[in-house]
Amino acid sequence: MRMEESYTSYASCPCGKGKIFQKHYEGVDWYSEEDGPVTIDCRDCNSKFVIEEESRSGPLLSDHRRNAYYLTPIGYPRYEGPEVIKAFPKITYTNENFVGWLIENYTEESLNNALNQINNASSSKMLKGIAAQISNIHKKACHSVRLNKIKEAIELSILQYNSYNNGNYLQRQQVLLKEEIARSTYKEEKRKHQILIEFDR
Ligand SMILES: [Zn+2]
Repeated sequence: MRMEESYTSYASCPCGKGKIFQKHYEGVDWYSEEDGPVTIDCRDCNSKFVIEEESRSGPLLSDHRRNAYYLTPIGYPRYEGPEVIKAFPKITYTNENFVGWLIENYTEESLNNALNQINNASSSKMLKGIAAQISNIHKKACHSVRLNKIKEAIELSILQYNSYNNGNYLQRQQVLLKEEIARSTYKEEKRKHQILIEFDR
């Protein structure tokens, strides 16, 4: 798509000697908008800050911007708190290890409930809720809707649940909760050191 420059937004830099700008573009042939990178046009401020972009959730603010831009001091420490991806770096896929995938994505209780349903069902069409969900995914991953195959996988997942070495659902949720709390604390503290760039338009 062909784009052409439509306007430039400006803001003053923290020291006041230079400026910060961002060019905006729009489609030539049909309506489309694009924001260019934010640039610090000041040698002093450029050596002190990096620009960080954050997408805004919820209604747009009075300046209609989709993203907020912050000046963060160079060298500000990165987030180093708990992370699910660090605690359990390996991602298990359904078609690679269906049993492991079940353990990572369901509680033991859910798996037991699904197993109960399957023990009382004569066809995968009769399954509901999580049992139906597992059956559908099993069909895609293992190309089978045979109840005894699904049953076998769920039984194994329950058997291995507590000794599984890549984080069962519960263990992952515990880390996730810690991560969410730690990230929000980190962000709150970081905000005190950041400067919101307030563009003129
Ligand atoms: Zn400056």
